[in-house]
Amino acid sequence: MPTPEEFLDETREQGLRELEDFLRIPSISSQPDHADDVRRAAGHLAEQYQRIGLQNTEVIDTAGHPVVYADWLKAPGKPTVLLYGHYDVQPVDPLDLWKSPPFEPIRQDGQLLGRGSSDDKGQIALHWQAMDALLRTTGELPLNIKVIAEGEEEIASIHFEAFVRANRDRLKTDYCVVSDTTMVARGLPAITYALRGLIYFELRVEAATVDMHSGLMGGIAPNPAQALAEILTRLKDPAGQILIPGFYDGVLPLSEEERGQFARVPFDETALKQTYGLEALHGEAGFTPTERNWARPTLDVNGIWGGYQGPGAKTIIPAWAAAKISCRLVPDQDPKTVAAALRDYINDIRPKTVRLRLTELEGESNPWITPVDHPLIKAAHAALTRVYGQDPALIRSGGSIGAVEVMGRLLDAPCLLVGFVLPDCFAHAPNERLDIESFYLGRKAATQLWKEIASIPSQPRPLPGGAGARDVQIQLVVTRDGSVVGFN
Ligand SMILES: [Zn+2]
Repeated sequence: MPTPEEFLDETREQGLRELEDFLRIPSISSQPDHADDVRRAAGHLAEQYQRIGLQNTEVIDTAGHPVVYADWLKAPGKPTVLLYGHYDVQPVDPLDLWKSPPFEPIRQDGQLLGRGSSDDKGQIALHWQAMDALLRTTGELPLNIKVIAEGEEEIASIHFEAFVRANRDRLKTDYCVVSDTTMVARGLPAITYALRGLIYFELRVEAATVDMHSGLMGGIAPNPAQALAEILTRLKDPAGQILIPGFYDGVLPLSEEERGQFARVPFDETALKQTYGLEALHGEAGFTPTERNWARPTLDVNGIWGGYQGPGAKTIIPAWAAAKISCRLVPDQDPKTVAAALRDYINDIRPKTVRLRLTELEGESNPWITPVDHPLIKAAHAALTRVYGQDPALIRSGGSIGAVEVMGRLLDAPCLLVGFVLPDCFAHAPNERLDIESFYLGRKAATQLWKEIASIPSQPRPLPGGAGARDVQIQLVVTRDGSVVGFN
């Protein structure tokens, strides 16, 4: 019997073909005319899970696109991991920029081209193939695994929270693992351990019920566009420091170890400026761009409008002006507290000549972190070091992944983000591609990941009520920053 690694070496071609079949299904979640394809992709994925020997496979309906579930729970005494991926993909336009049809995958120069090849079907496939290798060669998995694949990640996971709430028992787990991120570079894997959260507002400033003549009313009426500008410029100083009292309360300081880890990740300022046509970078003093992006909160004006916008001149004082404002939040800021602080502050500083309406928009999310010295991170670190021959980078991300925050919060389980695709995979863009060698290495890394996680103890869980409650086990109590505070 071959080892799992040998099995994976022998099944490279088959593995790619399996992925190509999956990629041929155009599961674009945002487009209603692809709804049947999305469902077909879910069914196809469920078949793969069944074929490799997972159990309780089910395509679970939600109010939107379905979630695929499967599990393998025959490792008593071992931890349980919930593995998350998504089988939906982004739209493909502009189609004329694709070198080949997006849903007819082709191989070219070591890359597999096709929509979803890296984000996220390729990562889903490498996991089912790693589990297949373990099951076929050893007859078992080293731990208990529950797999879910979402069909709405590309449309902001709109029904995911309701799904997790409704399936809390079924999804109960010790740890969550998400493979939907990228490596830092070829051969240099990354473990993402924190994400930023988000709050979003629309601010409307009104001075009058109608636009006014700037000759007749100029010098008499207040100007809401001017008032809006005054408010916005008082939210942040020119150096990038946010001026809302209490805004930074709760921000966890970066440790020296984290700063050292961030510095390992290449940051090419010139290339970045070129990509976006930037004159210069801008942000809070005292932090590197990477630190500002990953571990510092921000406030941005996302849009601003009001008054006359057509061709030529129109001499008015507008009745109103508006702006969209959002904040990216970091651990351990609380979105509700920050939102209240922003509301109070804007109310304080507003010119008293105008009326304000501040509306919080949907999409609030909590920041999320698993401390770098958590056993889950350490296990992943060991697994990746073995496979890639160098320490993985421990990174955060400036973005927000709603599903991660939802699982962390509702399932009360530490989470780990580890991806096996390259950062230049053109996710969401034309010619999305998968580096084939990275895919093969990812399959091996996935088998190692389960072996390492299998060897860490289950996290402390609340004791069940009733008779079982007398069965007190001695467990470490670990705080969120990873320090041990005692036993229970
Ligand atoms: Zn994705």
